[in-house]
Amino acid sequence: MCSYLQVLRPLYCTLITFILALLSVFVVWPGSDGIGAAVTDETIRVAIHKSATEVVVAGDGLLVIGDAGKAVALSLPATVKPVKGGLLVGGRVFRTLSFSAASVVYVNSKPYRGIAELSVVNMGIQVVNQLPLEEYLVGLINCEISSAWPIEAVKAQAIIARTYAINRKISRATAPYHLESSVMDQVYEGCLIEDSRARRAVLETAGEVLTFGGAVIQAFYHSSCGGRTEPSENVWGMPTPYLKGVDCQYCLTSPSATNWECTLTLKELEEKLRAAGYKVSGLYGIKGGAAYVSGRLKQVVLQATHGGCAVSGEQFRKAIGYGVIKSTRFSTKISKDEVSFSGRGNGHGVGLCQWGAKQRALDGFDSGEILSYYYPGTTLKKFSEIR
Ligand SMILES: [Zn+2]
Repeated sequence: MCSYLQVLRPLYCTLITFILALLSVFVVWPGSDGIGAAVTDETIRVAIHKSATEVVVAGDGLLVIGDAGKAVALSLPATVKPVKGGLLVGGRVFRTLSFSAASVVYVNSKPYRGIAELSVVNMGIQVVNQLPLEEYLVGLINCEISSAWPIEAVKAQAIIARTYAINRKISRATAPYHLESSVMDQVYEGCLIEDSRARRAVLETAGEVLTFGGAVIQAFYHSSCGGRTEPSENVWGMPTPYLKGVDCQYCLTSPSATNWECTLTLKELEEKLRAAGYKVSGLYGIKGGAAYVSGRLKQVVLQATHGGCAVSGEQFRKAIGYGVIKSTRFSTKISKDEVSFSGRGNGHGVGLCQWGAKQRALDGFDSGEILSYYYPGTTLKKFSEIR
């Protein structure tokens, strides 16, 4: 009997892995109110940690799979640390560990639907959350905007987030994950702040993506453009037919979201510029150089006793911090040893303007009209019909 079980054990493990894979594809997670199998067969892989020094995993009824697809018994919560050769947990070392549950998996106290996959990359723990795409979108809405916004704006957000995610999935098909969970791609905090309005927007647009020439577009978007969106070539050097600059007076109705100010000392600025590789010393001023039609700065002039130069607006923003210099549309004022920045817009300015979309929805436009305004020439299609 014993040897019989030993023979069968790998088969059981294979069976469990198979059932788990089926669950990840077809299951309607609790609370999903019927996002059906027809649209949940698309999964997405999101990096929720890239180099953690410790990960604590918890949850009810967790199924844990270790190396070679074998089920592992672990006492929970499980504290996992990176060591040479893999993941150390409960005195054992694994190359990879996958955690899943019928409800949610807690990773460092945040709840995630689907599967959490742990591995060691560069001596840190990488955690990839794999889950049905539509469930990812429900979790994402309130990280990017507020689901309390007019529903047509929330639906527009659901469509562009889906479009963006699928485009990334196609282009990173062989990578360990498709998306980051930060502003590098789309902000995502698991299912911590999902709600019924976010779910409604995802359901009412189920499977819909924006296309151009039959292909899923790169649906870039940003918080607020400040008056005009920016053609992609002015930000990333590559022209894209559907990422042209369009007028947007709509976000200007939300001045607190659009206008920004900040003050930094010349010393702070010089330190940040030097850390970014600019060999400036004796910085005594920052001023705007040439500008695009939108008012965003093509160039920023660094005035210094040594190493003064002009840098691109994008490079300047990157060097000082995207969260500090919220857009490249700004003017400066120097007083003593400080530079005051006064700007308009939040983000790179390419594609849809979220605060503008909100106002357009309030003005009575539906999600399709909002999207065709910010992405001219695109067509809305079901992804299942074009793949
Ligand atoms: Zn705008």
